[in-house]
Parts: sequence; structure tokens; C-alpha cells
Amino acid sequence: MKLAVKNTNMNKPKIWLSSPHMGGSEQKFVNQAFDTNWVAPLGPNVNGFEQDLQHYTGAKHAAALSSGTAAIHLSLILLGVKPGDLVICQSFTFSASANPIAYQGAIPVFIDSEPESWNMSPELLERAIQACQKGEVMHQGMKMPAQLPKAIIPVHLYGVPANMDKIEQIAGKYKIPVVEDAAEALGSSINGRKCGTFGRFGILSFNGNKIITTSGGGALISEDGEAIAKSRFLATQARDNAPHYQHSQIGYNYRMSNIVAGIGRGQMEVLDERIAARRTSFERYNKYFRTASQRGYRVRFQPEPEGSFANRWLTAITINPEENRGITRETLRLAMEAENIESRPLWKPMHLQPVFEGTPFFGDGTSEMRFKHGLCLPSGSNLTDQDFERIFRVLDEVFI
Ligand SMILES: *Cc1c(COP(=O)(O)O)cnc(C)c1O
Repeated sequence: MKLAVKNTNMNKPKIWLSSPHMGGSEQKFVNQAFDTNWVAPLGPNVNGFEQDLQHYTGAKHAAALSSGTAAIHLSLILLGVKPGDLVICQSFTFSASANPIAYQGAIPVFIDSEPESWNMSPELLERAIQACQKGEVMHQGMKMPAQLPKAIIPVHLYGVPANMDKIEQIAGKYKIPVVEDAAEALGSSINGRKCGTFGRFGILSFNGNKIITTSGGGALISEDGEAIAKSRFLATQARDNAPHYQHSQIGYNYRMSNIVAGIGRGQMEVLDERIAARRTSFERYNKYFRTASQRGYRVRFQPEPEGSFANRWLTAITINPEENRGITRETLRLAMEAENIESRPLWKPMHLQPVFEGTPFFGDGTSEMRFKHGLCLPSGSNLTDQDFERIFRVLDEVFI
């Protein structure tokens, strides 16, 4: 590769990793909210968006919330997670999967990934459950009392489905409920069944860079109508049925606003197009690196396990310098940055995060290796052919 130091050319428009991509009807729904003065954390758009989500995912019930993080938090509250409890969580994820465990004063038990999907390893999951059961788990130097974990949080990283068959099987064996973090996986599926509908609860996110966005927002989905009704109650300050304001338990302000839900309704109309575009981007990169392999490079992609369909929210690769003539993911990331193109290292696993130091972890190095060599490439559904020309020009310079 050329090692010439290049001037950063910020005159070129920025190519984002994943930026919002509106479809058209969003404004219509938002305007309706203004016209009817439904400017509140409830209203026709909230109800409509919940119905859209139910219809699309096949979940019986959905509650639209202020964020995906709020959805995880409420699911843990509904499952009765309390201080000192253990909650199993995939380590290779964004911090929002794990933070709500700490909100409840519970202790996360982090599980490493399997190579097949880069998501929670079923084998390590079972080993961890057994260790918790036997009282062999250490937290900050102290042995935790023998107990079964209260919940299991697997994640569909970058939209690639986790091995839900095996995870559900193990969870069922020990009767531990699953909270499925499908924040990145709206539209992904396993044998035709949508991600988010496998666990007791599924959580979705509509943050600014997700596959569809409401600027910020999330949802909790489930087959359990009573639990979803309870989540709405908790999300609106847990107000009892009385003419005055009466509260018998602690509530939260986690409901989605009717304005934001209007954006969501518009976005649902184009979701399948967005998925198709992201999968096409993935294919473009894949094809590029198949050709590069003839020049002696070996860039690896996050696999799509058999029977599963990934929305390919972000195209994630690993570049091991030993297989790529010394090129590292930083070589590529910095070369992109110099051209005003955003790429990003993979999520730093939770067991390596300073904030979770001393927290139990069951692993074999799988996520650590991926983090070390991994990069997310620009994957927005609004990337143009010209954007790809610029991206491939950088790739050509690096993988010469
Ligand atoms: C985005 C994300 C969340 C949280 O969603 P917010 O809506 O941003 O709170 C949770 N888990 C994962 C894996 C995410 O990527």
C-alpha cells in the first residue's frame, strides 16, 4: 500500500457510517399530529406505530417507548430483577444492552460470542448458568451466593441473528426468561420468524443511526399482553386509577411521543427497502474483497448463519494483519478518515470496559479477537454510487 501522508480533504462531503434516511410519509404523520394538537406522549401515531410494529414483527403486543434502553430496563423490572441478582448478557454489544442491569442494582454475567454469528455462545451460556447455580461466580473478588440468573440478554449484533434455537433451549431447560436485544435487528429473521419474537420480551431501537429511526425511540414487544400493559403503566409514572395523582410504585417517564411515533409510521413504510439497500451494500463490499483475495488479501465478514436472514444494519469485517500483509483495521479506518469517510471499530466487549471491571465473564477470546481486528464499513441505505466510488478508491489504495 502507499504510505504517503495525505491531506485531509474536509471539502468532500462526509460519508457517514449510517445516517437517517427518510422516506416521505414521515412528515405527513407528524403534520397530522400538529393539525390535531396531539403533541403528547400518547396519541394516534403512538397507537398506529405500535400496530405497525406488531404487524411487521408478528409480535402480539408492542409498547412504543422513549428508547431501546428504556425497553430493556422495563423488561428487567417486569421480570423482577432486584439488587444482587445475576443477569446474563452478551459481552460483544453496545453498552445499552448491559446498563439497565446496573440500573436495577443487579450484576451482569458476560458471555462471549460464538464464531458462527459473533453472538452469544450457547455453550458458554450453559457453562455460566451452571457456575451461577453452584455459587462459583466471582464478582469484584467476592463469591456470589448460589443462584439462577434472573434473565438472559442475547443480542443480534449488526443485525445478524444469534443462535436463538439453542439459546431458547438452554433458557427453557433452566427456566430463565430471555430478553432479546433486537435493537440492531429489526427485519432480521430466523427461518422466517422475526428477531425480537423469540424471547419473553424483545426490544427494538429507533435511535438516529439504526436501520429506521424516529430520531430517538424504542419499543418493547411480547406475546404477553398483560406484561406490555404493565410496561405502559410503568412508562407513564405508574399512575394508579384515581381522579387525583396516586402512586403505589415507582414509575418512569419512558413513553414515546406522538410526534416521534409519526416519524416511525413513515419509516415503517420503507423498512423493507432499507433492508434491501443495506444487504446490497454488504454484497458490494463482499464482492470487492473476493476480488482482493486474488491479490493475496483475506478480509473476513460477519457470517450469516444458515437459516437466518440478516438485515445487515452495518457491514462488519475483520482485518487480521497476518493475513493482510500487515494492514490493520486502523490502516483502513485512518485512510477512510482522511477522505472524510466514517468507519468505526466494532463494539468493545463489555468485559473489557473499565466500568464493568471485576464483573463475571465466561469467554474464550472470540469477541476480543473480533474487536481487535474489526471494523464497521459505511452502510447507510442512502449511500450513492458516487459515495461507493469514493469508498472503493480508498480500498484500492489500501488493498493495492
Ligand atoms: C442502539 C442499541 C440499544 C439501545 O437503544 P437506544 O434506543 O439507543 O436506547 C441497545 N442495544 C443495542 C445492541 C443497540 O445497538
